[in-house]
Amino acid sequence: MYQALYRKWRPKTFDEVVGQKHITETLKNQIITGRLSHAYLFIGTRGTGKTTCAKILAKALNCQHPENGNPCCKCPSCLGIEDGSILDVVEIDAASNNGVDNVRQLREEAVFSPVSVKKRVYIIDEVHMLSTAAFNALLKILEEPPEHLTFILATTELNKVPATILSRCQRHSFKRLDSEVITAHLEHVASCEGLNLEHDAAELIAGLAEGGMRDALSLLDQCSGAADITVDSVYSAMGLAGNRRTAKLLDYTVKRNTEAALELFDELWTDGKDPATLLGELNTLLRDCMMLSVAPRAGANLLSGRFDKEILAVFCKKLTKAELLCRINTVSDYLIKIRSARSPRLCVEMCIVALCDPSLTEGLDELRARVSRLEYDMSNAPMARYTGDDEDYAPVEDIPYDEPPARPSVEYDDDELDASQFAEYQPEDDLLDKGVSPVDLNPDAAPEAKDAPVDNVLLWAEIIDKAESSLPIGLIPILSDPTQARCEVSYDTMHLYVVPGFFYGMINNQDVLMRLRDAANDVTGRSLKIQLSELVAGDSKPTRTVDELKKFKEVRFI
Ligand SMILES: [Zn+2]
Repeated sequence: MYQALYRKWRPKTFDEVVGQKHITETLKNQIITGRLSHAYLFIGTRGTGKTTCAKILAKALNCQHPENGNPCCKCPSCLGIEDGSILDVVEIDAASNNGVDNVRQLREEAVFSPVSVKKRVYIIDEVHMLSTAAFNALLKILEEPPEHLTFILATTELNKVPATILSRCQRHSFKRLDSEVITAHLEHVASCEGLNLEHDAAELIAGLAEGGMRDALSLLDQCSGAADITVDSVYSAMGLAGNRRTAKLLDYTVKRNTEAALELFDELWTDGKDPATLLGELNTLLRDCMMLSVAPRAGANLLSGRFDKEILAVFCKKLTKAELLCRINTVSDYLIKIRSARSPRLCVEMCIVALCDPSLTEGLDELRARVSRLEYDMSNAPMARYTGDDEDYAPVEDIPYDEPPARPSVEYDDDELDASQFAEYQPEDDLLDKGVSPVDLNPDAAPEAKDAPVDNVLLWAEIIDKAESSLPIGLIPILSDPTQARCEVSYDTMHLYVVPGFFYGMINNQDVLMRLRDAANDVTGRSLKIQLSELVAGDSKPTRTVDELKKFKEVRFI
């Protein structure tokens, strides 16, 4: 008969328990020294080994030949407890036996000495589920326990256990297991079971198990049908292939392609995807992006493991932290709304519309997100400025003005979104292939790096070049002479400084100014205003810093 992996690999001694050494060592010591408590409380999330350790402790307490604190697993007591034939060790699930009658019955039995072992042990799982009356009845035995009695209580929710019970128990907190610990154990189990488990797949399963070894082994069991257990086979066994479509949906909203996003949702809806689940997945995806964004080196432990890291890295680069936060808030709001919504479908559709155009639901978060987007875009297209230092007129190797980042809208022709598709249409995604760590891809990190002064001499030269054919010939040498004329382009204005005199008069002519402005618009791709001022000898103006420009921009655009 096939035995589930998590049962087959259930630890039988303290030494076999993975990742809870702080507890198993303490318990072993107590067995060795005989300093035992009559009541233990094991706290921890599901699948972290609470009931397993309770059972091992029950065996160790009764073992005839304990070995260094571990049960021997060979004596009649150990074997009897293991197969459940010794009735002095009782496992109770408080979730289904939560009434006061159950506990009263337990109290009546408890007074009798054990029949075949030294200690009568009650293991009460999910003890927080007991009713108040049942807790009170339990408290009576815990207050004056007979010598032969040991209680091992286990709970996932410590806050629901009354303080009067807590104070009478020795508490042990079970940790969620690290992904690495689970991964290593999965690989060990797989090799013993003759399963061909890829390392990446083991990591993925570990991530999905969220710190629980039992869940991890159950997942491995589910995937064990495949000849080779790969990331893809895990995705398909878990029914997570759809998560890539969730990533695609998010991508459409990032590109503000509302139509495509709604069409994709319609497809998902037709395929039977639950709307609330979809919103939950969107939030998990956004959360993972945020984790990768704020703690890129923290590793897989912080991630849900439901999405490819490559996809997350791409979104990290596309969305600033403020934008991520804003989207998480939006989706969370709709997750609350969907519970009471008459039409969950409408709810998701409105959520998609809001994600595509955050300005529709403009609050502080959305404004912050927009400002951060402007800053990011601006830092990618740095403002040129004149430093007032003539030495800066030496040829500059870096071209000070870049085209604003292209935001191509590309049609997906494949149903499944994958990282290689991102790489195709996002030229800057090449960074991924060059092994750039996610922190380097973080748009929020960009502005500081771009704050260095940028000379705009080349930009001005380009503008003159462009306007040359349409300007009076005599003006070109003047405009090209930095002692006669200088130019600064701020966010939406081209500031022109010319030494007062004859040429100033020539330039201060609507026709000439319009031509210069048109040339500047052509070169920068923006719609600029032009402003002419007198250039005073030795004048250090204009020296607006990029910071000032940013402030200026924020005031105008919020
Ligand atoms: Zn034994």
